[in-house]
Amino acid sequence: MIKHDVVVIGGGLAGMRAAVEAAELGADVAIVSKMHPVRSHSGAAQGGINAALGNREEDSPDSHTYDTVKGSDYLGDQDAAAAMCEDAPKQIIWLEHRGCIFSRMPDGRIAQRPFGGAGAPRTCYSADVTGLVILHTLWEQLERFGVKVYEEYFCTALAVEDGIGTGVVAYNMRNGQLELITAKATIFATGGAGRMYAKTTNGYASTADGMAIAYKAGIPLMDMEFMQFHPTTLKENGVLMTEGARGEGGYLLNAAGERFMFKYAPNKGELASRDVVSRAEWTEILEGRGVDGCVLLDLRHLGREKILERLPQIRELALDATGKDAIHEPIPILPGAHYTMGGIETDKWGATRVPGVYAAGECACVSVHGANRLGGNSLLETIVFGARAARHAVDYIKTVGDVRPSERTLKAEQDRVKELLARTGGTRAPKLRSAMNETMSKNTFIFRDEQGLAEAVAEMDRVRKEFDANVYVMDKSSTFNTDLVSTFETDFLIDAAYALAKSALERRESRGAQSRTDFPDRDDANWLKHTLAFREADGTPRMDYSRKVTITKYEPQVRTY
Ligand SMILES: Cc1cc2nc3c(=O)[nH]c(=O)nc-3n(C[C@H](O)[C@H](O)[C@H](O)COP(=O)(O)OP(=O)(O)OC[C@H]3O[C@@H](n4cnc5c(N)ncnc54)[C@H](O)[C@@H]3O)c2cc1C
Repeated sequence: MIKHDVVVIGGGLAGMRAAVEAAELGADVAIVSKMHPVRSHSGAAQGGINAALGNREEDSPDSHTYDTVKGSDYLGDQDAAAAMCEDAPKQIIWLEHRGCIFSRMPDGRIAQRPFGGAGAPRTCYSADVTGLVILHTLWEQLERFGVKVYEEYFCTALAVEDGIGTGVVAYNMRNGQLELITAKATIFATGGAGRMYAKTTNGYASTADGMAIAYKAGIPLMDMEFMQFHPTTLKENGVLMTEGARGEGGYLLNAAGERFMFKYAPNKGELASRDVVSRAEWTEILEGRGVDGCVLLDLRHLGREKILERLPQIRELALDATGKDAIHEPIPILPGAHYTMGGIETDKWGATRVPGVYAAGECACVSVHGANRLGGNSLLETIVFGARAARHAVDYIKTVGDVRPSERTLKAEQDRVKELLARTGGTRAPKLRSAMNETMSKNTFIFRDEQGLAEAVAEMDRVRKEFDANVYVMDKSSTFNTDLVSTFETDFLIDAAYALAKSALERRESRGAQSRTDFPDRDDANWLKHTLAFREADGTPRMDYSRKVTITKYEPQVRTY
């Protein structure tokens, strides 16, 4: 049996930052990850990470907090947003002192580019490969502290004994064994849930694992209805064209060559927040002013030199997928599923309501992003809340004695997997995944209404029940059984998608990324509150609205850009 004081599930930015912090504080910490940490989706982050560094007089952690709260359409908890924005400059310096190479201004200071919804240019970046550069910096720190990494271990369940978390069960993909990993504190850092949609910018591993594992163990998922659709993704493969492209001055054009964004956001144009830009693009496309189901991202006027220096990766990605060279031609783009604002409910230290269980990064809902996340705030969230969760966890483990290994949870998982593998026929998981992808893409996309959402809920209920009764894994082998692993992932996605559909149906208003054609206005009188979804034994989400939004300085106002 494996035992550590703190175990972190996930080796992306949130997981590695948490592990490094715990190690620096002297704790015995390990990472469990279904893939090598530097292959995590964090490595795909292009545009940058926000911090009011003080490079400009007009910027401050306060105005960063205000932009974040306004961006969230006032659903974000203001104490959490302030904690993040105040810590941001320190975390950037922390990273830079550990060797993170940021792009520079001519005078040597860290460069910052403008991003959507921001009052000042405050997004620090490493060309358009920021996530990868930070990921490698943290990997070096893990090596430095000798943190143990259980690689290609797939976490399947959380152990809760006498109301406290006591570790996890993980499936060792190399030999097919389920193993108990006992810990006084468990930190989930398993990333997002974009794969519930047919087209997404997310990697194949962004399958809601930690969210569903916590949810199955009784921890609620919060604000799941808020899925962010990024305005600039490629039609061909869903791949992202960073917001940095507009930050560097890129235009959005419709079929008539018009820069249409100023009709929708007179002050900010292309740099309004993402929900606003995605809705504007989709409206242009729906009203017949698109080009082949897309609008155009035009970078030509930036010139060859700037494109090659600041945006080399996206030029290449677009060239590979569309055959179009951004130096000479506009790139056809459309909105795509990008970021899961909802997730495991935590407080502003990353603690869930089960002592000893934490969540940080995209799998968590702290909540700083509320109904709409600002670009550049997610990388920041992984770093700030990864570290904060670890600090809290290291304090917490000093207050608990030895924890008992949960043989019960291990046995339950062994029985479940044995029963699954013993099935000789039934419905294959990819079929259920396609059904989910189809209903989510059709009914829970940018514009939503009662009928479509009710359809999505009914379909997810059917898919949930069909999975439980009949899902069939064809491959029975114990060495790298990807059929089984992807069936686990489909199970997790179904739980998250069902919670999303139900949360969206019940929220009868429009706020941030949730835009309901039948309830077009924000309704603070009835809906300035978080959605909590608890999982019933049969997989149905039960809604609860007992969690209020924390408002400190900024009273809700009409949100315009
Ligand atoms: C293409 C793209 C570009 C982006 N660009 C930006 C940007 O410029 N700025 C910004 O702020 N944000 C950006 N984002 C968002 C941001 O990158 C992510 O939200 C953030 O990196 C998520 O980090 P994470 O550590 O929470 O999760 P991830 O990096 O997704 O890591 C998840 C980890 O969990 C592990 N894991 C998952 N399930 C299990 C399991 N069952 N068992 C064991 N291990 C498991 C995986 O192995 C992985 O190591 C971008 C996102 C995408 C998709």
